[in-house]
Amino acid sequence: MKKYQHLLNIIEKEDKFLLTSHVNPDGDSIGSLLALKFILESCSQQVEIVLADSVPGYLEFLPGSQDIHSYQELPVDLKEESYGVYFVVDCGELSRIGEVEALLTEEDKIINIDHHEDNEEFGSKNYVDSTVAATGELIYDLAVELGVNFKSDFGTAIATALITDTGNFTYANTSAKTHRIIADMLELGVDTQAIITEVYGKRSFSNLKLLSKVLSELQVTAQQQIAWLSVDQSTLNSVQATWEDTEGLVNYPRSLEGVEVGILFKEVAAEETRVSLRSNAFFSVNEFASYFGGGGHARAAGCTVEAPLAKAEKMVISKLKEELGVGNAGDN
Ligand code: AMP
Ligand code: MN
Ligand code: MN
Repeated sequence: MKKYQHLLNIIEKEDKFLLTSHVNPDGDSIGSLLALKFILESCSQQVEIVLADSVPGYLEFLPGSQDIHSYQELPVDLKEESYGVYFVVDCGELSRIGEVEALLTEEDKIINIDHHEDNEEFGSKNYVDSTVAATGELIYDLAVELGVNFKSDFGTAIATALITDTGNFTYANTSAKTHRIIADMLELGVDTQAIITEVYGKRSFSNLKLLSKVLSELQVTAQQQIAWLSVDQSTLNSVQATWEDTEGLVNYPRSLEGVEVGILFKEVAAEETRVSLRSNAFFSVNEFASYFGGGGHARAAGCTVEAPLAKAEKMVISKLKEELGVGNAGDN
């Protein structure tokens, strides 16, 4: 039997679909949503994408992204619409879709397509495969199974999902399958270079100023197993940057030679600190993040600590030192 047989039956039967993904959407969530929308529309279905947050500026180049609704600005008729199926993509826990959960009134209509190994299988059908680098790979498989005639906008969405979740093919999740899909997209005429320029090569002045300020305060433990950066509201304001400008910053502490865990702390509110965690070789940051109520992948995870920035930093670093067996004497 085909892997997505059940989905194929549903797609034929239903005609109104609601698609959503996690808060603070990234390239994989937006790319997967748009690609899935193109698939469903090619089957003449009616599709709405609704997210708790708006599309980040660096992904606005994606064809179709302007039709994505943020829950805050959702027209009343779409709020009251009855959808036959809800697709939740690239999201390990249902609560991570934020306010959009209010629209998912019937649990048995939820279809979960994801690649987080700690996925809670909250759907009536769960297509979870933690071996793939991006949810976009699963959406691509679905399109192949459905026999969809790929168009280049679909390819751009899929390629963006893969490029962003593999950090431009630099992370350990990158596989032969990832490259094969990209090869197919190149043959379809997708301009991967242009995507990479859009995502990584269009920094604003504020963005670079923020990078220089934040990097100058880099902190490490004595033996450099842990390195971290912090961004507070006043630094952000001083260079007219936004939280979007912190995207990718966590890769700097991670790139320090010898570091196992790189961290970025963000003061999103007086009592709320967002924490991004990355590891290089062996440490499971998703397990660590779950200690603070978060999750993610083995090498990339996150959590939110309900504490002011300095306190959250202390809590996370001291717990991490304990877990990694990093000594306290004399180090920071
Ligand atoms: P980020 O550091 O925000 O880029 O997130 C890295 C990975 O961790 C992504 O796969 C996220 O989906 C996941 N993640 C981030 N924050 C959380 C959280 N609070 N709860 C569960 N998963 C998270
Ligand atoms: Mn994601
Ligand atoms: Mn993903």
